[in-house]
Amino acid sequence: MVYEKAIHFDDIDMYLMKHILDFMYSSHYTLRGGKDVPTTGYCDHTTAALRRGPINSSGIFKRKCPCSGKILSPSHLMSHIRIYTIADYFGMSDLKTYCRQGTQDVLHVYWDDEELDLADALEEAFISTPEGDCGIRSVLVDTLKEHPGLWVNEGDVQDWLDDNPKVREKVDPDPDTLVLKP
Ligand SMILES: [Zn+2]
Repeated sequence: MVYEKAIHFDDIDMYLMKHILDFMYSSHYTLRGGKDVPTTGYCDHTTAALRRGPINSSGIFKRKCPCSGKILSPSHLMSHIRIYTIADYFGMSDLKTYCRQGTQDVLHVYWDDEELDLADALEEAFISTPEGDCGIRSVLVDTLKEHPGLWVNEGDVQDWLDDNPKVREKVDPDPDTLVLKP
């Protein structure tokens, strides 16, 4: 079938297409919604304990947030992944880098936000992005490694890892010696 490889534009959300065009003209795109990450204060996104606890932790944690000044929302995760997939199809490597950074930023700030829909994002990333392409996949795997609390307990993410043992192996290479982080 001659047209087999043709991309189906009907399937692509026109908002996503607009973001891709924005990127072509201005080297960035802005997703809808989101909140400013404050430009003052220290980064408190790495551990949930730090976020909830008093801000008197040792100096080692007192660093500026890498996302400071950016406008982020948990709902952006899926859009970045979808745009990445289209960018890959069109061979737009700069756009892929931009989507990867966006994914990293959203996960840095909103990794434990219930609106993140992490299991859906994993499914999208591991089905839609090319198998040999670790751009988005590795960001997701690194997030799961950094925050075992996201998947050690029963839930969507644990279920997803159970269904995807190869990914589970990357996240949790030696299950017997798992050391729980706070
Ligand atoms: Zn931060």
